[in-house]
Amino acid sequence: MVVETDQTQEMLYAIRNQFPILNQMVGKHPLVYFDNAATTQKPETVIQSLDDYYRNYNANIHRGAHYLADKGTTAYESSRKKIQQFISAETPEQVIFTKGTTEGINLIASGLAKSYLKAGDEILITGMEHHANIVPWQMACEQSGAVLKVIPVLDNGELDLEAAEKLMSEKTKVFSMVYISNALGTINPAKELIAKAANLGAITVLDCAQAVGHFVINVQDLGTDFAVFSGHKMFGPTGIGILYGKKARLEALPPYQGGGEMIKEVTFEKTTYNELPFRFEAGTPNIADGIGLGFAVDFIQSLDRQTIEAHEHELLKLATDIISQTPGLRIIGQAANKASVVSFVSDKAHPSDIGTLLDQYGIAVRTGHHCCQPLMSRFGVPGTVRVSLSFYNTKEELEIFARHLNKVMSMLA
Ligand code: PMP
Repeated sequence: MVVETDQTQEMLYAIRNQFPILNQMVGKHPLVYFDNAATTQKPETVIQSLDDYYRNYNANIHRGAHYLADKGTTAYESSRKKIQQFISAETPEQVIFTKGTTEGINLIASGLAKSYLKAGDEILITGMEHHANIVPWQMACEQSGAVLKVIPVLDNGELDLEAAEKLMSEKTKVFSMVYISNALGTINPAKELIAKAANLGAITVLDCAQAVGHFVINVQDLGTDFAVFSGHKMFGPTGIGILYGKKARLEALPPYQGGGEMIKEVTFEKTTYNELPFRFEAGTPNIADGIGLGFAVDFIQSLDRQTIEAHEHELLKLATDIISQTPGLRIIGQAANKASVVSFVSDKAHPSDIGTLLDQYGIAVRTGHHCCQPLMSRFGVPGTVRVSLSFYNTKEELEIFARHLNKVMSMLA
């Protein structure tokens, strides 16, 4: 166990204090926010960036010939560059602003269904995907006649890698996988699986929705053709996300939506499309939140990664110990390599009853299927209670949780 020094503790509290929302009471109890896999909280700098944009330089960007439009365009495009550097993308043009992970996957799946997939082709996903990485591919299968294949999940919440090997073949035209499972916390061996699928000629897609809040993503090192994530899970605003793609892959993809921004020239007879990244960004963009996401990147980059990761690890270990030592609770997902998520069920109570009672003590957890219904079926449960942690959570909060969890479980006995 890593022992956090006073200096480390002080630094962690200073980071936590940058999140104003965390410092509040829920009735008589201090808020304990353990729902970070659903969305993370926002630091002061991100909140201020939104206020500053609307207060001081709101204007439509890119084509405006005036001071405010220029200022907005510069801020928005500099945010794109920050994100490019943050994920180690080759060029800023390969960083497309979307609404979030869901829109990113829909953009890729619908484009591939129109331009690339044929009847009999196989799309391979994993058994622990979020619905956002299942349904768009089912829709692509309906359109193209392709077939969906699924890598099974082992009892401990890891992917069955032997089965993965057997499922991958020359027929695999798309391989789309989740990096970190939002429901189990499993960190999947993304780089290795992507390399295997790519060797067979598949287009690879990586759902980084959970990963971006926990560690730094390097898209080139991962070798993926596409990567998607949401701003709101990395301390940025809601309604904004990123689609990264290798240049040739993006260029081969047909536009997703038609309208302003995405065109070069329009006549009633024919339209030519704009260059990257604009050909995938039809209409007025989400300017404020795009700028806000750049501030979230600045914030993440200001953190001492080693300390943050050690702290998250410590919190995960503590949460796992608390839950596994509470009688009648069973943890779903015990992978060797996990991010800060602990999902559990009780043999006596429904997850939603546990969640509702914990809320009475100011403790915010998520209950239900976590948009992973096939995964819940795999484990034979209707849903779980999910504790998901971030670096601004504290050991004291976990002590509060341990006390109230015991109380709640004895109430439900
Ligand atoms: N994939 C994963 C792994 C997720 O955790 C989520 C959000 N819970 C999504 C996709 C969808 O993200 P969004 O709702 O922000 O589009």
